[in-house]
Amino acid sequence: MTTYPFTFDPSRPFMQQAADWIADVFYEILPEAGFEVRDEQIYMAFQLERAYTEKKTIFAEAGVGTGKTLVYLLYAIAYARYTRKPAIIACADESLIEQLVKPEGDIAKLARHLELTIDARMGKSQDQYICLNKLDDARTGLEEGELYREIYEGLPEFVHFPDTMQSFLPYGNRKDYPQLSDRQWDKMGWDVFQDCLVCSQRHRCGQTISRDYYRRATDLIICSHDFYMEHIWTFESRKREGQLPLLPEHSSVVFDEGHLLETAAQNALTYQLKHSLYESIIVRLLEGEIRESLAVTIEESIMQSDKVFLLLEQMSQPVPGSKRRKFDVNDRLLREIGRFGDLLATIEEELVFEGGLFTIDDYQLKIVEEHLDMMQRALALFRQPDKLISWVREDGDELTLVIMPKGVKEIMRERVFAKQMPVVFSSATLSVQGSFDYMAEILGIDDYLSFSVASPYDYAEQMKSALYLVEEPDDKMKHVMGFLQASGGKALILFPSQEELERFKMDAAQAASFEQFRFLYEGEAEISHLISLFQNDEDSVLCAVTLWEGLDIPGPSLSHVIIWSLPFPPNDPLFESRRADAQDALAEVDMPYMLLRLRQGIGRLIRSREDKGSVSIMGAELKQERIKEQVSKILP
Ligand code: SF4
Repeated sequence: MTTYPFTFDPSRPFMQQAADWIADVFYEILPEAGFEVRDEQIYMAFQLERAYTEKKTIFAEAGVGTGKTLVYLLYAIAYARYTRKPAIIACADESLIEQLVKPEGDIAKLARHLELTIDARMGKSQDQYICLNKLDDARTGLEEGELYREIYEGLPEFVHFPDTMQSFLPYGNRKDYPQLSDRQWDKMGWDVFQDCLVCSQRHRCGQTISRDYYRRATDLIICSHDFYMEHIWTFESRKREGQLPLLPEHSSVVFDEGHLLETAAQNALTYQLKHSLYESIIVRLLEGEIRESLAVTIEESIMQSDKVFLLLEQMSQPVPGSKRRKFDVNDRLLREIGRFGDLLATIEEELVFEGGLFTIDDYQLKIVEEHLDMMQRALALFRQPDKLISWVREDGDELTLVIMPKGVKEIMRERVFAKQMPVVFSSATLSVQGSFDYMAEILGIDDYLSFSVASPYDYAEQMKSALYLVEEPDDKMKHVMGFLQASGGKALILFPSQEELERFKMDAAQAASFEQFRFLYEGEAEISHLISLFQNDEDSVLCAVTLWEGLDIPGPSLSHVIIWSLPFPPNDPLFESRRADAQDALAEVDMPYMLLRLRQGIGRLIRSREDKGSVSIMGAELKQERIKEQVSKILP
């Protein structure tokens, strides 16, 4: 779709005409269609015009209910049509993507009321697709084999009969399997250790086909922050491997819930190493006619990799309540990692020579080289241990070494913000004490526009809130029962961690008094399916860990937000490292994180002028006056 939604006069600047059209949309078209258009929305529209005209980054801080999504969508679509390149709308997670594209979501609303055909396609993350190889294992396995056999048989015909001529349709999305629990999905969903490059099934894999589909979007590609960052970090290596980048060239980017981008950037920059994966890739070289010296070095490197992982297993300590194990980077570990790196460097040098002799298949060689290169980049971070965060994770009976650089801003500056392209950060919480410098600093943004508009809702009138100093889980259960009886269910209970949710689930299952309510637990089914069950069964109770942000359910189904405990960051290696670098860890790391998350969580309650309800906040930390005071300040 490349036609403009207004009559274009080539003698006048495009953005000026687009802004005129957007003003018409807000002053005339939407009000005529029965929409309540807010002053804040019109103000935001004027601000975005400048960012799009000057191709700049803008922090658009707009409170709940300002209707910011409609504003950025209009600019993104108009500009995409002008430049003939789609805009990227990057949401904080997969459930927010679904909310944007759902039939009653903002894109559908615009299409209906403006009589526009909007070509919006989802670019979901890799882990949102079935991996045919994993499905093969699952359906031939002993555990729930029947379930996976049925799923396999339900796949499109071209998966079973690849030689037949037919059109390939996107398939295999997590959302197509709403009833599967996360655990069941994990057995067949893509994970980071799948080697798609050399996979014989990749031409009929749902992930590959979906990628071809969304790449052809003309207006919008909706993806997650994680996926956008994955695109940025893999752009060069995919080009080297002869693959297309994950996302096509685009005209502008909107980071919805933009305050969460740093975490996504850091996650995408994370390297994950596993001994078995290294071994399975490097032994491919032994299948060719290679020189003995290379074969010996390969054997040595496998032994050295094994040694490093064994050492990590001995050194590391479990982090309570998580699968992570932490370790200190000591001299012995640095020595063994250094030796492993040296062996990899020797293999890389020998491969240059072998490549010249054509003893190894070219394609295999490329893949091994790319993998070695990635490992070298990861291990090189150990040369400056103060600039890295690392831990190991238990995956089945094996350890994964996770390595992450501390600062991401240099890379972000170079690869995202140095481009002449409009970039919009949209969120209700972007500034700290009225300034956007903190966000700009952590993300590497040197030049930006910004504005802030408050929510149009009357929180003092629409929302009641109370703090409860409760420490013991049993007391919390009693409080929750009281809260639920007061609101007749209709509640969202937010937990800071999966472990706390699991514990609550176990206790609730054993308490007879809880039987009167229908509880929906995150992880039991696909997330947007759960959200829709919650919305449609008015008295149900949704228990979640990841819905502090973005959940948008106006009306009585969500009349009570219950905060199980204050959302302080976990005691994992990532936050421990940030705390270690801070002068006052509570003030600089824990408190800002907690307050931002809490504000977002509270923001789930009032989603329209008619909404009314309560927020109940429990927390053992409320006994500290400093914390109680800060929490009280963000309540109406
Ligand atoms: S291409 Fe990747 S995701 Fe698809 S089946 Fe192969 S390994 Fe699995």
